[in-house]
Amino acid sequence: MIKGFAGRVLEIDLEARTFAFRPLDEDIARLYLGGKGYGTRLLYDLTRPGIDPLGPENPLIFATGPLNGSLAPQSNRFAVVCKSPLTGGIGSSACGGSFAFGLKKAGIDVVVVQGRSGVPVRVEIDGDTDAVRFLDASDLWGLGTGATQKALGRGMHHAVIGPAGENRVLYAGIVSDARIAGRCGVGAVMGSKGLKALSAQGTRKLEMADEAGFKTYTQWVRQVFKGHPVLGEKLRRFGTMGIVNTTNGRNMIPTRNFQAGHHPGAMNLSGEYLEDHGLVGVRSSCLHCPVACGREVEVPGAGRVKGPEYETAGMMGTNLGITDLAEVNRWNWMADELGLDTISLGVTLGFAMELQQRGLLSTGLTFGSPEGVAEMIEAIAHRRGMGDELAEGTRRLSLKYGGKEFAMHVKGLELSAYDPRGSFAQGVEYATTNRGGCHVQGASMYFESTGPLTINPQNLKLKAELPVVQQNLACAVNSMVLCIFTTYGLIPRQVHALKPSGWVHRLARVLFENSGPAYRWIMSGKLLQVTWMDKWLSRVTGMRITSGHLQEIGARIFNLERMYNLREGLTGADDTLPDRILHEPLYKHMTSGHPLDRLLPQYYRLRGWDEHGVPLPETLRRLKVRL
Ligand code: SF4
Repeated sequence: MIKGFAGRVLEIDLEARTFAFRPLDEDIARLYLGGKGYGTRLLYDLTRPGIDPLGPENPLIFATGPLNGSLAPQSNRFAVVCKSPLTGGIGSSACGGSFAFGLKKAGIDVVVVQGRSGVPVRVEIDGDTDAVRFLDASDLWGLGTGATQKALGRGMHHAVIGPAGENRVLYAGIVSDARIAGRCGVGAVMGSKGLKALSAQGTRKLEMADEAGFKTYTQWVRQVFKGHPVLGEKLRRFGTMGIVNTTNGRNMIPTRNFQAGHHPGAMNLSGEYLEDHGLVGVRSSCLHCPVACGREVEVPGAGRVKGPEYETAGMMGTNLGITDLAEVNRWNWMADELGLDTISLGVTLGFAMELQQRGLLSTGLTFGSPEGVAEMIEAIAHRRGMGDELAEGTRRLSLKYGGKEFAMHVKGLELSAYDPRGSFAQGVEYATTNRGGCHVQGASMYFESTGPLTINPQNLKLKAELPVVQQNLACAVNSMVLCIFTTYGLIPRQVHALKPSGWVHRLARVLFENSGPAYRWIMSGKLLQVTWMDKWLSRVTGMRITSGHLQEIGARIFNLERMYNLREGLTGADDTLPDRILHEPLYKHMTSGHPLDRLLPQYYRLRGWDEHGVPLPETLRRLKVRL
């Protein structure tokens, strides 16, 4: 067995209440790593086309990767893969917390949950004795995610759902500690199986190919991260809400359902403001993470709880026209307890407010007013009244009540909190990412516009190349499984230190803007180790991995996801953006919205796809994608 893997897949059948340990498939592990890559391969192979995502035939796959269980910074994460009930295509989501650690310590890389239990059930995995226990969870059904984990106790590491998952809200997530696998409705799939909680523990040791080399290199990377302006300073001090002032200043923070990109009160939701008003603690939200981007706030009636992330501040704050930090803190806590993805929730609430604004539907929700929001969040999680409608997400609402042109989703997945009219590469990424409109499947906006270098959005340079490279890298990162923030460290502190008005900065920006082919060439070099990840992987697994190999593995995973989507009926026509983004200008000097129509053909060519967005046979052959 390749080092870094535990070597076992646990298959659980909730209907028959049986389980079996199978050997990890080494060929799949070499080609797809673990996490999202291994999970996608399994989903493709285990299912026939057209299955009901909320039926027992949709497997729910929990997957760790070769870096989980190591001391690599930001490596205690797991991926969840299934068919998404929100998009009908590939569903994948990643989560921090401590469950990945528990699973790996139990000597398990992947858990495949099949079938459906007639009564609420929870499953405990004891990796030391290889016991798998199916336990009655009726007493936990209806409890929030925090209350559930408290009731389960501290002996094991848990992945649980809240009432939203139980009630199959299409954007319900799965929670471990205070972190959530929020996207694509993975919590609804867990709820459809009657599975309240999956818990694991063990004391097995991760075997590495070069443990001493790994340790030495990791210590060096930790020092780099510690001194890095984003990882070691900004994220560490202000959490992800430290991004609010940047995106607001660049007119990129969703405001009133993306009708604007700037809110004069957004500063009240920033990490800087939080530090002065109401921050009660900082903690490493994911186990063993030195960045510790999680913040703690005090919510009346709930006590000291995890504070909102940037996405929540954007989507449930400015996107609703609301900048009251106390309200956003409370809604964030409610969503975490109920097990809801705050991105999809915030976009859906914003859409409901615009339906009200335009007289298309009386939702009782108004931009700028917190009135009724908390009640609606509860109603959504329990599918009561109008909440039942909103539980279906933005796309379905727009199909029923109109407003398709301002329904802010791609492929059914609600957009995250970066307006792509200020980051054209991010727009291409939103449009083409297989799971839908998401910001952590590449994070091009950081390299294009919210990071230290800003690229002119009025020209098309680098805008198709950047998403290809970043999506491939993110696929690999989500398969190891690492936090996407590790990629932010790839822009050195020296670049961050440049004065934006200085000639060196301007020169660096122009060079970067024109670096498309060179950037692709460097990242796909099979002799070069240019990222932390390839060096870590080589030392852990014993395989010689370069950044070129990572690009190839990432492209393989991305193309397999694409083939899964095509199999499920999604096509190139789904590679689009909401009309509002395509046609309404955001900046004074813009004459139109996002130029996706000019960038998409270039993107398809770079991917090796035909003009309809279908991977060419030679592309699949080159990448060894078996169908
Ligand atoms: S940086 Fe934040 S999200 Fe990433 S692993 Fe650390 S605590 Fe988790």
